[in-house]
Parts: sequence; structure tokens; C-alpha cells
Amino acid sequence: MSLDYKQLRQKYLRLLPAVDKILQETELKGVEREIPRDLIVEAVQEVVAEKRAVIQRALTGRQLEGMTLSPAALALEARQKVDERSRANFQPVFNATGVLLHTNLGRAPLAAVAAAMLQRISSSFCNLELSLQTGRRAYRYEHVEELICRITGAEAALVVNNNAGAVFLALNTLAAGREVVVSRGELVEIGGSFRLPEVMTASGALLAEVGTTNKSYLRDYEGAINEKTALLLKVHSSNFKIMGFTSSVDAASLAGLGRKCCLPVMEDLGSGVLVDLTRYGLPYEPRVQDSIKAGVDVVTFSGDKLLGGPQSGLIIGKKKYLESIKSNQLTRALRVGKMTLAALESTLRLYLDEEKAFREIPVLRMLTVPSTVLKARAEVLAAKLAARLGPGWTIGISREKARVGGGSLPLAFLPSYQVTLERTGTSVNELVKKLRGTRYPVISRVLKNKILLDLRSLLEEADELLIETIVQTFPRSAEEETGGGFEP
Ligand SMILES: *Cc1c(COP(=O)(O)O)cnc(C)c1O
Repeated sequence: MSLDYKQLRQKYLRLLPAVDKILQETELKGVEREIPRDLIVEAVQEVVAEKRAVIQRALTGRQLEGMTLSPAALALEARQKVDERSRANFQPVFNATGVLLHTNLGRAPLAAVAAAMLQRISSSFCNLELSLQTGRRAYRYEHVEELICRITGAEAALVVNNNAGAVFLALNTLAAGREVVVSRGELVEIGGSFRLPEVMTASGALLAEVGTTNKSYLRDYEGAINEKTALLLKVHSSNFKIMGFTSSVDAASLAGLGRKCCLPVMEDLGSGVLVDLTRYGLPYEPRVQDSIKAGVDVVTFSGDKLLGGPQSGLIIGKKKYLESIKSNQLTRALRVGKMTLAALESTLRLYLDEEKAFREIPVLRMLTVPSTVLKARAEVLAAKLAARLGPGWTIGISREKARVGGGSLPLAFLPSYQVTLERTGTSVNELVKKLRGTRYPVISRVLKNKILLDLRSLLEEADELLIETIVQTFPRSAEEETGGGFEP
């Protein structure tokens, strides 16, 4: 005689182990030293409450019969909850988006030597503001100033929190309360939170727009100069290009005008490339060195875009202007910490040997790796995934373009290869979400209802980990493992 389901419910409710009993399980005893007991107890209580709710909602015996209510099983569930919750919110992810410099994904990954130095400096005391020669107090920026000058040809340099801060500080120092002449074609907005006219207002400088959206001539700048003018500014149109009939004034001509009128000339380069990318068939991107050579007095650029270092803003140029920028009180508010300096110095040192920079700086490597290499990696990845994911998956290779991103080289579409994933019975959105929710989150891209994993933005050394991650995110069921539900 079988019990009716109400009696069955009662029976199962009685089977639910007590919280204290579950807490005795080795699964949970083992983590008590690392995780506060309160959190463990809370997780166990939740698991018990969830099971109770399931039992109370069950309408048929069948729904109950599969339940495992042993203390060990519930302890394991609680342990999973605890593990999930004690995982950091801020963690590494796979960038499979095909956008190399993704502000949402932290822009440039550091070179291995820079990451190692960062680790050493940050876990120890350091000579941040101490001269090891004299034993006296030193200036924290000295660790990188000479190096930046050697690489760029500038007379002096300063590093602040980011390029937005660099532009703000330079404008505030050189032009507060006075006019800055800028072309209307260069009043850029970068990522919504950096709009040049607004940064200028905040810095106290007054905007004097010249020219039109598509054309500005030297005579436009010249015509705008008056006794209130403090600075001539050129801004890199980082994330857009004006096509068709265009005309803009190059850095050398603007620098010439500045000299003639005894006005400083500043250029916000945005990304700040230190190497010649045309060697690799990429569009011409003015190098920082070129602006200095052209005679620009103050140049600003980011440390974590194409330079490939930590978030920072570099201000370089003539000593006279850098001295006044350094003595601005606001410099203190924008100053960088030891971790930034550690990573920046090691990254910059790689540029002393350009070949080394191309080999060791991940952004430069990703930018220049031949697509044949990406194709080979895609084939290996696709084959391994096809062998290890269960039936129902369709795995292929596509040949879409990747992008630089981060407001750099907006027109450069980089040839690339992607592994494509589809699974019958699972929507692409569900796949995206699952991949994003795993232990090593995979941030992917979707095209035509398929997941695309772009090889150009994925760090090559992590390909094996990526395979393991995907396989573990979508484990094969027991039937699939044994080849389709056959029970011997
Ligand atoms: C990216 C960019 C900025 C802002 O730099 P951050 O380092 O993100 O602060 C400013 N100006 C230009 C032209 C840029 O491309």
C-alpha cells in the first residue's frame, strides 16, 4: 500500500536534517577556519528552508521521491552557496568580445613583467618617495620621468590618475580664466563621461571654438587669438573619423603658430602610441614622439590604451610648462599610487627595445598577431570543444573582424577568427548568461544567434583554461557520458 502524497510530504519533512547536524559534516567543518561561521550557518539555514519549501509545494509523490536529504548532501549544497558568496566581486574574465581595449573589461592587460613588479611592490614597502642615493625625500614621479623623456623625446613628464585628469590639470594650470582655442571638429566625447567642452568648463578655461565640424584652417586659429587667449589645443578624434571633405591643422603647423604668437600649444592624443603601427599594416596613428618632434609644448595621453600599461594619464612636454603643472595644488588630488608607478615603469622599460615591446605587451601582441595564428588557435579550440561538449552542440569557425576599441583607431578592423557555439534547445541569451556566470566568466559576443569567441582579444596563454571553463560550465549528463541512457 502506498502513502498518499500528503503523508509522503510529512514523511519527507521529518527526514529533513537539523541545521546543527548539517553543520557537523566535514564539508562544512573544513571551511570554518576561512569563512565566518555566521555565513556558514546562514547558508545551511537557507538550504534547509529551500528544501522545506520544495516539499511543501510538491503535489505528487514523484516530485519528492528523487530528493536527497542526507546531511552530507545538504552540507555540500550549503558549501557551494558559501563558496559562491565568498568569491570576489571583482575578478578576471575572458575577453572573447573581439574588442581589444574594452573600458568595461579594464582596458589593457599588463605585460607579465609589469604584473610581477606590481605584485612585488604592492606586497612590500618601497622607495616611493625616498632617494636611495641621498637617503632623503624624493619626488614619486622621478621613478618614471627620465624613462618617459628618453622614450618620447620630451623635456619633462608627469603622471596622473588618467588622461581625463591629465587634460583637466593641464588646462587648469595653463588656461584657467582664459581662452583655449579648439577646432569644432575636435570637441569630442569619449565614453560619455569625458566631453571636452565640459572638462574645459570644469577646469576653469574658456572655450573658443574655431572652424567647422569638417574643416578648420590655420587662419581660423589665428583669427581667434586675442589678449585673453592662453592656449591652442589639438584633440585627437579618438573614437570617430570625419570622412569626405575634411581639413584639419596638423600639430606642426599649430606649434608654429603658437611660437609665432608666444602661446603654448597642447595636444590631447588620447591613446598615445609609442610605436609605429603601419609596419603591421595598421592605419597611421600619430606617435607621441611625433607630436613632441612637431614642437607641441604639452602632450597628454592614456597609460592603459595602446600603451598597454596601468590606468594613468601622462603629461609630457617642455620643462617650463611641466614645472607649473607640477606645482598646481590639484596635482596632489590626481596623484598616482605606488601600484600604478610600479606597473607603468615596467611597461615603459619594455619600450626601450621596440621588438621587446611588441613581443611582451599584450595589447601590441594582440594587435599585430597574424590572422593565420588566430586561425590555427580557433581550429584547435573548436576541435577540443567539439570532442568534449555533449551532443546538441554545433561548433564552427567564423571570420569576422575584431576592433581595437577604447577610442583607438576607430577605423581599424582587424582580421580575426572566432569559434562559434550553438546548442539546440538553449537560447543564445541563455548561453551568454551561463558563460558570464561561471567561475572564470567568459564575456562573449553574439552574431546571428551564435556565440562568437574571438581569438584576437583572448590571451593565448589562457586557451586551455578557456576550454576547461566552457566544458565545466556545460557538463555532459551521465547518459551522454555513457553514450545515451543505456544501462548495463
Ligand atoms: C580616452 C581619451 C581620453 C580619456 O582618457 P582616460 O585615460 O580614459 O581618462 C581623453 N581624450 C581622448 C582624446 C581620449 O581618447
